[in-house]
Amino acid sequence: MAVRLITEKCTGCKLCLRACPYGGIEIVEGKARFNDQCTQCGACVSSCKFGALVLEVTFTRDVDVDQYRGVWVVAEHLHGQMRRGTYELLGEGRRLADKLGVELAAVLFGDGVEGVAPDLIAHGADKVYLAQDPALAHYRTGPYTDVLSGMINQYRPEVVLVSATPQGRDLAPRVAARVSAGLTADCTGLDIDEDDRLLVQTRPAFGGNLMATIVCREARPQMATVRPGVMKALDPDPSREGEVVEVPVKLDERAILTKIVEIVQQESDGQVNLQDAEIIVSGGRGLGKPENFAIIRELAEALGGAVGASRAAVDAGWIPAYHQVGQTGRTVQPKLYIACGISGAVQHLAGMQSSDVIVAINKDPAAPIFNIATYGIVGDLFEIVPKLTEKLKGL
Ligand SMILES: Cc1cc2nc3c(=O)[nH]c(=O)nc-3n(C[C@H](O)[C@H](O)[C@H](O)COP(=O)(O)OP(=O)(O)OC[C@H]3O[C@@H](n4cnc5c(N)ncnc54)[C@H](O)[C@@H]3O)c2cc1C
Repeated sequence: MAVRLITEKCTGCKLCLRACPYGGIEIVEGKARFNDQCTQCGACVSSCKFGALVLEVTFTRDVDVDQYRGVWVVAEHLHGQMRRGTYELLGEGRRLADKLGVELAAVLFGDGVEGVAPDLIAHGADKVYLAQDPALAHYRTGPYTDVLSGMINQYRPEVVLVSATPQGRDLAPRVAARVSAGLTADCTGLDIDEDDRLLVQTRPAFGGNLMATIVCREARPQMATVRPGVMKALDPDPSREGEVVEVPVKLDERAILTKIVEIVQQESDGQVNLQDAEIIVSGGRGLGKPENFAIIRELAEALGGAVGASRAAVDAGWIPAYHQVGQTGRTVQPKLYIACGISGAVQHLAGMQSSDVIVAINKDPAAPIFNIATYGIVGDLFEIVPKLTEKLKGL
């Protein structure tokens, strides 16, 4: 993708100067002109009211794949608090970078977040590309797309990994389109084909009935979004050393189409976010009615954990959908997962089987959940769960 200026149409109005995050345009003799700072990110194109700036698409077969090196992980944080999925991507990115014999870099956006960079290095990054500006303080599709696209054009990584969170699912396809890259969404497995230096991307297809393996031979970078909770994070090593590269960006708020009016934090029932939770207590159809989720909440509260649910419970309207764990819900990887009145359908297991310790409470000794449980309790959850809560509260 390249940006072209049609000089005859340019009126020298300077709107494109405001839109460029990199200071890559100047006005010379009444006309816009790209300078050395231009990264071809494309941010200026939509700002031109006169059609003087156009994006020209490069055919993927024209891309010299050998010019792209390195693995990038796009870090995601909330007010400087890193999302667990970012650590998982760094763990996986480290493995892929080592196989490729290249650097692993984290890309960090925000305002006043430089203090977070060492944490990314401790979790596996060799380098952190740090882009800071007040306009990057909170996620917005436009400026994040512009800046990340520009950085990709400038530094040319061969692999870019993004968490398949609502933010990542919004950002990755936009950036992929902007830089003419391939993107595989919602991957559950990644590897390297060492003969061809290709990223081998695995993801469920056809409702999880088969696993598709996808490679992107011609376009670069190879981009993937990865489900949080699937990959393993590395234990942080504060003694690791790395480099922080400040990427100079200057965004003009007037050129950004969306404004953040208010940030409303919606925590599920006052509990912690499912994907970041270290302990999850989940309830299923075995609870019988919505009011009975109270005993699940009490146990979760006693353990300082979050409340999860099977799809059967969600479909019955007993609990909101953002609690759902499984193939069409959240993929979680807590230290402790307690499944209460959940049979263990394959679609539920797909979202929680990587949990460190699984405790299943079910009155049916033949329930499939026991096949993957670390500890199984055969019995009536209405007797067991309150007793467990009482015991834990007493500790
Ligand atoms: C395309 C597709 C995607 C899907 N995605 C998901 C998903 O993301 N997540 C998900 O969970 N499901 C998903 N499902 C649905 C899944 O197939 C199951 O239907 C669902 O997980 C069943 O939920 P459950 O275990 O709560 O209910 P059930 O299968 O009905 O199991 C209830 C269990 O409770 C036990 N029980 C009953 N009473 C008690 C008691 N008093 N004490 C102890 N145990 C008791 C029973 O023995 C039983 O094992 C999906 C299905 C499809 C087709």
